[in-house]
Amino acid sequence: MTVLSVRDASVIYPGGVAALAGVSLDIAEGEMLAIVGPSGSGKSTLLNIMGTLDRPTSGGIEIGGLDVTGLSDRRLSALRGRWLGFVFQQFHLSAGLSAAENVATGLLYAGVPRHRRRPLAIEALDRVGLAHRVSHRPHELSGGERQRVAIARALVNRPALLLADEPTGALDTRTGQTVLQLLFRLHEEGTTIAVITHDRDIAAGMPRRVELRDGRLVADSAPGRRPGVA
Ligand code: ADP
Repeated sequence: MTVLSVRDASVIYPGGVAALAGVSLDIAEGEMLAIVGPSGSGKSTLLNIMGTLDRPTSGGIEIGGLDVTGLSDRRLSALRGRWLGFVFQQFHLSAGLSAAENVATGLLYAGVPRHRRRPLAIEALDRVGLAHRVSHRPHELSGGERQRVAIARALVNRPALLLADEPTGALDTRTGQTVLQLLFRLHEEGTTIAVITHDRDIAAGMPRRVELRDGRLVADSAPGRRPGVA
């Protein structure tokens, strides 16, 4: 099953900068891929439209076979809460909340009753190896632990696709490796994961790599797929 499709999407910023030009990409259930490219190649722009945080100027996005391009902001945010999990370079945890409370925020828009949120958050923390840190606040955690809390928050609602934007970018190399190993393990357990990175070494370890340059997909390592052809 295709989890997410980008269909001939272009993003033109005011002033005429084409940040993306005719990108098509299908992500199948269970895949793990790196979206790689130099700074300015369009990675963040692609992530933003895949995550329905921005709309393409032309072309479309399908999530679970549904064309979401024309949906209202309200419906998009409901769909995002159900289908997508986000991990960012800078973790984006709330300073005043414990690890479990931070993870539980991932359930706020999913219609999960309050009394179910904490047990699900603790289960997600266990999945990322942080069962012993549920009551810690972000400032009491290492960088790697903070990113694992953020990954637990992204996973707690069992999204169809995890979108990770430079997930090791704020970590030292060794800690970054442990976070990558966690992502690999989650992939082995069946999670579909797209990692945006400018780091060729990280990309090289991924089962599939697609490469952006000047807003275009110029390479796709998946057998039988040619960039730009949906
Ligand atoms: P990457 O994430 O690969 O560094 P981006 O997607 O951030 O690349 O940017 C792609 C291109 O679009 C760059 O040329 C960038 O300067 C331009 N761009 C990004 N955001 C905006 C914006 N809000 N307004 C105008 N140009 C932008």
